[in-house]
Amino acid sequence: MTTTTTAPNFDELATRILGGGAATEADALAVLRAPDADLMSVVAAGARLRREHFGNTVKVNYLVNLKSGLCPENCNYCSQAMGSEAPILKYSWLSKEETLKQAGAGLRGGATRVCMVSSGRGPSERDIDKVVEMTEALKDEYDGVEVCACLGLLKDGQAARLKAAGVDAYNHNINTAESHHDNIVQTHTYDDRVDTIGKAKDAGLSPCSGLIAGLGETDEQLVEALFALKALDTDSIPVNFLMPFDGTPYQNTWELSPIRCVKILTMARFVCPDKEIRIAGGREMHLRTLQATALQVANSIFLGDYLTSEGQDALTDLHMLRDNGFSILGMDQGAFDELIASHEAGVTHRAHATTPCGSAAGTGCGDGCGGCSVAADRADTKADNKPVIRTRGAGTEVAANA
Ligand code: SF4
Repeated sequence: MTTTTTAPNFDELATRILGGGAATEADALAVLRAPDADLMSVVAAGARLRREHFGNTVKVNYLVNLKSGLCPENCNYCSQAMGSEAPILKYSWLSKEETLKQAGAGLRGGATRVCMVSSGRGPSERDIDKVVEMTEALKDEYDGVEVCACLGLLKDGQAARLKAAGVDAYNHNINTAESHHDNIVQTHTYDDRVDTIGKAKDAGLSPCSGLIAGLGETDEQLVEALFALKALDTDSIPVNFLMPFDGTPYQNTWELSPIRCVKILTMARFVCPDKEIRIAGGREMHLRTLQATALQVANSIFLGDYLTSEGQDALTDLHMLRDNGFSILGMDQGAFDELIASHEAGVTHRAHATTPCGSAAGTGCGDGCGGCSVAADRADTKADNKPVIRTRGAGTEVAANA
């Protein structure tokens, strides 16, 4: 790869891309290495590409963790991996009814896509049976819902079964550059991952594949990963920022800054200008006050919580979108306003659920929300910016954050 010390004019680069050109690897590297003082001009240039292809819309996705923990694979970054001592929720498959309930919460919260995820190396045929049933039920119950499945490495024929059931998309992240892959996992290969993306595409599923930044990769390896995703022609690219769970090999690994994360997303926009760039796990803890700035280049988020950790309150997500002039893809402004109003009407309960109100001792709001049993721990972990283990939504009796 050619490296350069001469920063390009990013606005001219955007003009060139809008005219049908493409960013080079050197351009991408220059975005990553742009001086912090130039951040807003880099973002403004990337935002031209975002506006061209997606206007002011944000696609809202909602995760349902169908099966949590107990995975035999050893992905070092993952709280669900073999050997992880992170105190996450561990459960086997949700029932179809529970899946519908959890997905419904996200859809009522403004999501248009439900991402059904299970831990593990890959699904058995019986696992596919379950996801087929869940998908058919979801499609019956919720008109227009988009379903994405993320079940691990696929065997021959499985993608076609998912497609036939109505699954729209399949997620399988490459996670990092091929040249770095074996440093982060040894129980499967980079080629295994690429093979599954190919199987999904061949079956007509929309391919979704992205990366995790902050795993010790170099700038060049981030660029390598982005160009690999471009070559794979994935429709959506989730960009995760490492959440360093205690009890995993990456515990206490902090390589990212908010500005660095915005530059990574902007690089993704320049390299893949017309693809869905999704700010995925780690959005809140790494972008912090730059979340809205990042949406000037990215066009997609997950609402609410992640697979094993908590995101910010769903109402905060929605306020952030509206305050910054974004609309939710597939929802008109009136419906968006009503959605926010309905969340605000429930804010008293939510506020109690995220601060120690004391209802467990009989002195609080009495909602029985379950928040009190975990709120003190949650406040402690938020204070030191560590991942907050998810203790609500799927796999619990506590209402989802949606
Ligand atoms: S295969 Fe998936 S669930 Fe299992 S350790 Fe890797 S990332 Fe985690």
